[in-house]
Amino acid sequence: MTILRLLLGDQLNPRHSWFEVVDPRVLHILMEVRQETDYVLHHAQKILGIFAAMRDFARQLRSSGHRVYYLAIDDPENLHDIPANLDRLIAHHRVAILEYQAPDEWRLDQQLADYVQTLAIPARMVDSEHFLTQRDDAAGLFGARKHWRMETFYRHMRAAHSVLMEPNRQPVAGRWNFDTENRKSWPGIPQEPSDRRPVHDHRILWSAIAAAGIRSFGEPHAEDFRWPLNRDEALQQLDAFVQFGLPHFGDYQDAMSVQAKRLFHSLLSFALNVKMLSPREVIARAESAWRAGNVPLAAAEGFIRQILGWREYVRGVYWARMPAYAKSNAFAHHRDLPAWFWTGATKMNCLHHAITHSLEHAHAHHIQRLMLTGNFALLAGLDPEQVHRWYLGIYIDAFEWVELPNTLGMSQYADGGLLATKPYVSAAAYIHRMSDYCRGCQYRRDEQVSENACPFNALYWDFLARHRRTLADNPRLALAYRQLGRRPQAHLAALRDRAAELLNKLDEL
Ligand code: FAD
Ligand code: SF4
Repeated sequence: MTILRLLLGDQLNPRHSWFEVVDPRVLHILMEVRQETDYVLHHAQKILGIFAAMRDFARQLRSSGHRVYYLAIDDPENLHDIPANLDRLIAHHRVAILEYQAPDEWRLDQQLADYVQTLAIPARMVDSEHFLTQRDDAAGLFGARKHWRMETFYRHMRAAHSVLMEPNRQPVAGRWNFDTENRKSWPGIPQEPSDRRPVHDHRILWSAIAAAGIRSFGEPHAEDFRWPLNRDEALQQLDAFVQFGLPHFGDYQDAMSVQAKRLFHSLLSFALNVKMLSPREVIARAESAWRAGNVPLAAAEGFIRQILGWREYVRGVYWARMPAYAKSNAFAHHRDLPAWFWTGATKMNCLHHAITHSLEHAHAHHIQRLMLTGNFALLAGLDPEQVHRWYLGIYIDAFEWVELPNTLGMSQYADGGLLATKPYVSAAAYIHRMSDYCRGCQYRRDEQVSENACPFNALYWDFLARHRRTLADNPRLALAYRQLGRRPQAHLAALRDRAAELLNKLDEL
């Protein structure tokens, strides 16, 4: 009898209970399929990273004595479709039971649920043993509430998992949240930690991907590939982050600089999302570093909030609202993405840096995603579905369960405020305060309507004016609407003319 166990490309958790004992009846299957490379246009490093990590995982399983069937991208027997490959294997190996770990993406969850209905053998879905919550925990917590506030969820998670808590069930130091202390710009010191990630040569794999005709964009960096590809490498990266990055993570969490692209971010999202690392252990490491006196509480709390709070929370939103969520478009925005989203060739220095860096490294940190590309997309009224497909393709950590709520909910407010307390939009003043981009920019951050005025300025006021009916009652926008109301009519008209002119020539900005 053969038990066939399917492992998806983001299920590379060597500590899953499946691997506790070697069972000769079990055959593990991993497959590199066009179904998964082609559902969106991906960054080259995303395809390379997932395939390379899958190959490493298969190697580890085999060396521990497990049976593995690996279907490579250029295997002539590969049908490039998960059900079709499973059908062939089930017949060939006389499989008696199919087992798979719960997929994190709705698309795959549906596909496998439909597929197993067609089988004559039993099939079983098991937990991926990765997250701290079940798919429906957030829905259970929020019930019918109109707004699902992350802070409510986060406090619930802190208490439920005893993270940064006193024995009396109060938060340590009497505070849940140090967000207000996490908003400094970076003055050039302390120095950005050096990049201690491993370097791999994956030219052979990249040639196979290219020869298979898979379309991609961005730099593959196959000869000096810098993402962790197994648990040991991910743990080393975690160690280095806790020692060198975490102490400053809190202060400069929202800062941006042309001088330091990674700043004090962990770059652990890929390792976490493909499950080489568990969120529990990453949270525990940050908390222990604080308890040992090695990092400030504001840094540990700020970092833990991202994983215990945001990461689990967006997953809950995703499972509660899919599939309709993917079509959210509360502002009815329909403009196409400007061509420079794919090249970085824009005169706006902030966007030029954020996009060229993303194309080069398949990564940007949170505030670049939210307050540069996302901010611009929202102000310019870009089609949220196109924006979502861009984010889903370009970042190595982009898997729909985490990317979609961040893009549609947090960044584009396309869900009408289910997730975000306000649209995250700003004019040049915020970008200037948090970065050094404006210094080297052809546009003038302090001008509003002139030929060289920063496009963010007119687009920002025009956005507020355009959506006054929906947004003016939002208390978090009260100040902005008061400022808008104080502008003379003639100036407002000039701002709106300038915005219309910009929107007509997005490709040229
Ligand atoms: P750090 O800044 O070091 O943060 C530590 C960890 O916290 C991250 O590795 C990540 O696991 C978690 N985290 C931080 N912020 C969030 C968040 N908002 N939601 C969920 N987890 C979070 N993150 C993804 O993992 N995949 C995505 O596809 C993705 N798409 C995004 C799209 C948009 C429009 C925005 C605004 C954010 C997106 N994020 C996404 C969240 C965040 O930007 C990335 O997790 C982070 O930049 C990854 O880099 P890092 O590992 O250095 O993070
Ligand atoms: Fe960006 Fe405007 Fe500053 Fe230029 S001036 S870097 S476009 S915010």
